[in-house]
Amino acid sequence: MKPAPFEYHAPRDLRTALDVLAETGPDGKVLAGGQSLIPMLNMRLAAPAHLVDIGRLAELATVETSPFGVRVGALARHAQVFRSEVAADVQPLVRQALALVAHPAVRNRGTVVGSLVHADPAAELPAVLALLGGSVRLAARDGEREVEAAAFFVGPMESSLRAGELAVSAFFPALGERCGTAFAEVARRHGDYALAGVCALVGLDEDLRVSAARVACIGVSPVPVVVEVSEFCGHRPPATADWASAARAVQDAVEPEADIHATAAYRRHLTGVLAGRALREAAARGEGG
Ligand code: FAD
Repeated sequence: MKPAPFEYHAPRDLRTALDVLAETGPDGKVLAGGQSLIPMLNMRLAAPAHLVDIGRLAELATVETSPFGVRVGALARHAQVFRSEVAADVQPLVRQALALVAHPAVRNRGTVVGSLVHADPAAELPAVLALLGGSVRLAARDGEREVEAAAFFVGPMESSLRAGELAVSAFFPALGERCGTAFAEVARRHGDYALAGVCALVGLDEDLRVSAARVACIGVSPVPVVVEVSEFCGHRPPATADWASAARAVQDAVEPEADIHATAAYRRHLTGVLAGRALREAAARGEGG
């Protein structure tokens, strides 16, 4: 199929892009990597009157790191972020997740920020942002706001982005000392959207006892669910932590739906198995420093 007619805008700087978005309001849509939007246009699941292509805004193709975290600009592609060694040192979970996102061709075009705004419940990066307590910076002609992950994801394919706004960057906070992370998922083929998946974060104290443990799930709820499981493992070395009870708590916290790919019961079961796996792997990485 072909998309419905639209007017194409290709601004050369951020100010012009924000002006166009302000003028087009709810009729305007940002085009980033196009890996989700173009198929939606072709299938006529979206029919914006104006497309604002940010592909020329080189100022947004940034991956900035500091001891506090990684800030990814709106035009940084999945592949660019994946390749950044310094970003992976500061926040390894982003790279662990990106290794599971789609295929190289999609990762060469798709953007990290675009994936967050698209807010697909089966996408890896929204869960990463939610687990880490990150945020998205939204700019409009009249100013900027920073929205925490917990408020950013509103529903399936729905974020709190307003008409006239452009997401200019996303911030992934750094890991603390002796903190480990892991991503585990099951997909029918590598690179497909997962049937279910989880990312986990485990923090250890100076005596290498578990001080924090939490999990975020994908594919099993309308928005990423973050489940605190510290109570099952707290103040014990990873080897004696009750990971099985933690995994059961995660499995009980999700609300999966059935579709042609899997039943709800199978997705719930997978979530528990993957949570146990990811928590143990994250703890081992935390112990390894
Ligand atoms: P676009 O397609 O350009 O835009 C997507 C949406 O976000 C649109 O509504 C657009 O208006 C909005 N948007 C984008 N950027 C901004 C911005 N800066 N400000 C405001 N609005 C913005 N994703 C996964 O997570 N996991 C997978 O396993 C996976 N598999 C895939 C397999 C295939 C075959 C394909 C084609 C895609 C797959 N994807 C997967 C999606 C891919 O990761 C996309 O790149 C991503 O979802 C959207 O990024 P994009 O830059 O292409 O955004």
